[in-house]
Amino acid sequence: MGADPGCGLCVSSGPDEWVLSYRDADPASERTRETLLTLGNGYAATRGSAPEATADETHYPGTYAAGFYNRLVSQVDGQAREDESIVNLPNWLSLTFRPVGGAWFAPGAVDMVHEHLALDMRWGLLTREALVVDDHGRRTRLRQRRLVSMAAPHLAALETRIVLENWSGRIEIRSALDGRVRNGNVSSFAALASQHLDVVETGCDGKDLLWLVAETTSSQQRAAETARTLVYQGGQEVRADRRTVSEPGLIGQVLEIDVGQGEDVVVDKVVAIFTSRDRAIASPLIAAREEIEDASTFDGLLAAHSLAWDRLWERFHVGLDDQDDARRPVHAHVFHLLQTLSPHTADLDAGVPAPGLHGESYRGHIFWDELFVFPFLNLRLPELTRAFLRYRHRRLPQARRRAAALGMKGALFPWESGSDGREETPRASWNPHAGRWRQDFSSRQYHVNLAVAYNVWHYWQATADFGFLAAYGAELLFETSRFAASLATYDPTDDRYDIRGVMGPDEFHDGYPDRPGEGIDNSAYVNIMTAWALARARDAHELLGRHHGDELWQGLHLSDAELQKWDHIARRLRVCFLPNGVMEQFEGYGMLAERDWEEFRRRHGDLKTLGLVLEAENDSPNRYQASKQADVLMLLYLFSAEELTALVQQLGYPFDPAVIPQMIEYYMTRTSHGSSLSRVAHSWVLSRTDRSRSWRMLREALDNDVADIQGSSISEGIHLGAMAGTLDILQRGYTGLDTRDDMLWLNPLLPDELRSLDLDIRYRGQWINLRLDSTNLTLHALPGGAAAPSRVTIRDKVYDVSAGTTITVPRNA
Ligand code: BGC
Repeated sequence: MGADPGCGLCVSSGPDEWVLSYRDADPASERTRETLLTLGNGYAATRGSAPEATADETHYPGTYAAGFYNRLVSQVDGQAREDESIVNLPNWLSLTFRPVGGAWFAPGAVDMVHEHLALDMRWGLLTREALVVDDHGRRTRLRQRRLVSMAAPHLAALETRIVLENWSGRIEIRSALDGRVRNGNVSSFAALASQHLDVVETGCDGKDLLWLVAETTSSQQRAAETARTLVYQGGQEVRADRRTVSEPGLIGQVLEIDVGQGEDVVVDKVVAIFTSRDRAIASPLIAAREEIEDASTFDGLLAAHSLAWDRLWERFHVGLDDQDDARRPVHAHVFHLLQTLSPHTADLDAGVPAPGLHGESYRGHIFWDELFVFPFLNLRLPELTRAFLRYRHRRLPQARRRAAALGMKGALFPWESGSDGREETPRASWNPHAGRWRQDFSSRQYHVNLAVAYNVWHYWQATADFGFLAAYGAELLFETSRFAASLATYDPTDDRYDIRGVMGPDEFHDGYPDRPGEGIDNSAYVNIMTAWALARARDAHELLGRHHGDELWQGLHLSDAELQKWDHIARRLRVCFLPNGVMEQFEGYGMLAERDWEEFRRRHGDLKTLGLVLEAENDSPNRYQASKQADVLMLLYLFSAEELTALVQQLGYPFDPAVIPQMIEYYMTRTSHGSSLSRVAHSWVLSRTDRSRSWRMLREALDNDVADIQGSSISEGIHLGAMAGTLDILQRGYTGLDTRDDMLWLNPLLPDELRSLDLDIRYRGQWINLRLDSTNLTLHALPGGAAAPSRVTIRDKVYDVSAGTTITVPRNA
């Protein structure tokens, strides 16, 4: 790329596959647009709301900083509950105008004849063109550009160009920092407490600088925003008459100037945001004041910002054929992923929030979704994965406390977490179909621990970062293994271990029909993943050896007897099978009732809401052979058929891989895809057996958020795990790319619909370009770099690859 983003005033500046654009107001989809037009830089993000809007039925301005949470107590059904949520920060966008004596430009107050919003994802630039006409027939053209700097993570800017088309006169422009915000993005949280911030200080320097400091009500974190608003006419800065507006929770300035007909006025608002979680600052306010003093103009910021995006796109390039209409959603997924998790996030103590930094769904919590995110990042920006694994490592003390509270050893990471890593899963969640609260037992999804172990190992395989393994990774592997080992109970009758009382990834079954909420037994996913994780902990033990490991072994009191026990469990965990040889999702699943899902589909359109609707009908998904999302099939998402077969055989079962197609069919017909992650896992699983179907599912997953096929939930945030997961299907799924046994494996099998694919990956420090066209796979290790030669296996043939090597093989076997 490298080209200039242009004047930005022409909203159709970019080719379509780089632009998300919307014409004219549509109140019903406004909040969805705001989510998709969010701008962020991994430090903070701001929803794409209109600057003149405040939160109402239609609009929801929101700004969130990574890792910035607060706890509030609410009364629900007569009971107190405490929730921790990501905090909606003061609205820095706030900007409007009016003719002196006229009405302020605000939603509904003037007639918006035309509006066009365009987000150019190459440069992270949101442009808005609008024509507004007031009661007196005065036509005013508005052109706005907005960025949240990818170059300077604390800075954001809004440029507003106002042209009086058929009138002239004196106008007032009001620019503010609005702290009168609360968390109100999620309809099902409406009954919960939402006031997270108190504004503790506001001010104006009497010139062009505003500031506002807010503090969270219980975590006592501060957020400071400073704003500098300048006005230009004919390219020259003008001295507007300014007066300060100070209302409780808001600080603003009204700028008055005379404007001629056809003349344009440019208002340049630059904002700095700091919080007390930032490092190397004296206070958020001092830092924000200094940052704004040094900040350039909108154009200056845009130049640095677009260069930063240019670099990121080079690194995160996912090239599809020019004709492919998947290009736009692919760009959107990379874009939103990088806006949530960027190089700036690596320096923060923040996790991977399920809804991105785009809204308040799931209260901005961290789940197991990083399992779908890290594989893509591992081969592009492993420094980020390392930072997120260190985020987990820092929370080991909380995870140990949780395990101990359950009477277990080791560490148990929470199903949902926010600031400090304690379990934040609510005990009750709202069922909109039933109009009542339902008990939520999701905290039994202990399998989040297995995701942490899997992520540690795969980071190590992709990077060979021994220092990480020795200092952090091994401890994560050992402590999660310890928990698993203490959860497993020994049954001497058949020399087997059972894991009871858990929930698998399929959230439909929180217990047996007669024991709801008590969990299920011997989940195939949990037990096989546990066997794998225990074996990797042993591998790590061997890798580190006595010398490196001594301090760690002693600190953890890890004994040979304990290692032997892990080994025994890893070979004797129980897995159940149905009479047809298909792995049973959990013990007793096959005894559950079958139901005519077609009939349900006819009544409700699809199966996505299955669980909630059944509950509303006083029935329960616990009674049925039905899954919300991939569960057993997650095993085929995480392991190749050969690895899975070896794992099950290692457990002493005569597993025949020929049953795998039947297993896929069995579970697919019983899955409602109630989670966006489900399509990703299924598309992956199908990529080896039915490439066309895999491609169709991938296309659905790619359109999920961008075309909002999940319905209104996008208005409350993106589905970050699914976004990254779709990219990983292209990166690893269709190329058959794997990093295991200290080798890079490739076994490409592209769907016919995908004509070409061009990717750059970084394997153990070496950048490698992979190009698949209609006939060949070409691997080219880019020149330069100090990486040691790598071993690459392409369809069973081993190559030594060092900088400059090129290998070409036929595209599909
Ligand atoms: C899914 C979980 C996921 C969570 C956050 C839920 O709907 O069932 O697997 O972790 O969303 O994305």
